[in-house]
Amino acid sequence: MKKKFIVPAVLSSALLVGSIPVGNVFAKPVDSKVASSVQASKKWNEKASVPVFVKERFAEKFSSSNPSNALNYLKKNEGKTGIKNPDKNLKVKDLQKDKLGMTNVRFNQSINGVNVEGSEVIVHFNKNNEVVSVNGRVNQTIADDAVDTTASLSSDAALKQALSSVNAPEELTYEPTSELVVYPFEGENHTAYKVNVNFMGDEPGNWFVFVDANTGEIIDKYNGLMHADEMKTQKGAGKGVHGAHRELHITQVKEPKSGTQFALADYSHNGLDGILTYDAKNDNSSSNDTLYVGNSAAFIGDYDRALVDAHYNSEKVYDYYLNEHGRNSLDGEGMAIISKVHYGNNYNNASWNGRWMTYGDGDGEFFISLSAGLDVAAHEMTHGVITHTANLVYRNQSGALNESFADVFGALVDDDDWEMGEDIMAPAAKADGVTRLRSLSNPNSVVVSNAERAAYGSGVYPAHMDEFYHMPTSVDGGGVHVNSSITNHAAYLIGQEIGRHKLGQIYYRAISVYLTPNSDFSDARKAIVQSAIDIYGEGSKEEAAAAAGFDSVGIY
Ligand SMILES: [Zn+2]
Repeated sequence: MKKKFIVPAVLSSALLVGSIPVGNVFAKPVDSKVASSVQASKKWNEKASVPVFVKERFAEKFSSSNPSNALNYLKKNEGKTGIKNPDKNLKVKDLQKDKLGMTNVRFNQSINGVNVEGSEVIVHFNKNNEVVSVNGRVNQTIADDAVDTTASLSSDAALKQALSSVNAPEELTYEPTSELVVYPFEGENHTAYKVNVNFMGDEPGNWFVFVDANTGEIIDKYNGLMHADEMKTQKGAGKGVHGAHRELHITQVKEPKSGTQFALADYSHNGLDGILTYDAKNDNSSSNDTLYVGNSAAFIGDYDRALVDAHYNSEKVYDYYLNEHGRNSLDGEGMAIISKVHYGNNYNNASWNGRWMTYGDGDGEFFISLSAGLDVAAHEMTHGVITHTANLVYRNQSGALNESFADVFGALVDDDDWEMGEDIMAPAAKADGVTRLRSLSNPNSVVVSNAERAAYGSGVYPAHMDEFYHMPTSVDGGGVHVNSSITNHAAYLIGQEIGRHKLGQIYYRAISVYLTPNSDFSDARKAIVQSAIDIYGEGSKEEAAAAAGFDSVGIY
């Protein structure tokens, strides 16, 4: 496919909204909110997120696999599924045909047409148009007319509240979005605007803020910026990635002034909007970012190296998802894969912000350039895949699953070991015995280096539910980077039995066909075992391996 090259300046400005004026940005300290989210568990209403997992022994056959037949099934089986008045309370979200010829119809629970945040159920048809299973999570506290979904606050006013509550800078990376939802929180159902605010800066954020649609109060908020792990702000002289020779796809640019140049822009993949690697120029504002252009087709300068690795690794990960799973890019529809490299100064992190990957150079003491890790790239890009599939909420167990799937695919793409981050550790860290960030094979062998987190458990990464870190959401989102090690270890154990290829097939099916935003560890077990059955059959050794893997880490 031929694609016309667009000059870098246009490309970068197309991604920006520019500065959005914000009046009255005086953020209140978040302490009061943190305190209330710590107590969230006390007011937890278990009926607000009830797992649904129905398997049909004698499946009912329909004329075709479509949303209205899925609904017909649900209407007849209210007793079985626990979903009342499906007609009224469910809205079709999407329909997906999978590799096995199955059709999976995803619904969002809704009231008066307003979505209940995170409550999704999926009806699965086999290729004979028979409904074989239903899974997901529903809110059973919502009776027919129990929630008033009228909003007296305007969407603009909600946005203002949200911006102020997260201390948003003037420049946002894209226009904030706002959607009216029913938000179950601390045992109550709130009618709220869900506002998404995204910005870079010293503390980049991809915030989701829930603003009461009548009082304007902030009900809850969390930062959905998915990053590699904790930062260690320490200055040093970081330089150079490992010097491997890389074959790259680049694009020739002809400009009247500068003559022929070469851009890290890869338009060689059919149906893909491109793999584009930007230079963030060692600042932390995205408005200066430009597509990286060199004078020669050989990118061999010191400054080039981190960019070269990001570009090369992006293509590797793209190829993995395409070849192993038939998935065209992160959204499955060929969205451009954008990396921004040389972010900030000595920045010890990499992240996925919902639209692109960002890589720091590392401080040279703890990390070197984070783009040097293929597993890091695969991890961040998998967050992108998850955003467009299960969309696991980035806190507590669902957030730990988000992290865990990112690690598992990181280890499947960077397949020479079961470690995360082994290629980005700086010499000083290695000298201190920190040779990787996490280990899927032996989680306990890695120390949780952040003391605040370590205080909630044994001090090393957990490998079993007995070692689960019970953390408030104010600390690492409730342990998303810590408790992920438990399910990571299950994946490793399963992989030992059936190999990486089959592990990848099963896990991809679980994330794309079964899991929903509020899934927990136990839902993940069911989804993974069911995926093994779907692909390899009931009673297969793959099913047994999946179940045994989760048994071993205490997840049932
Ligand atoms: Zn992550």
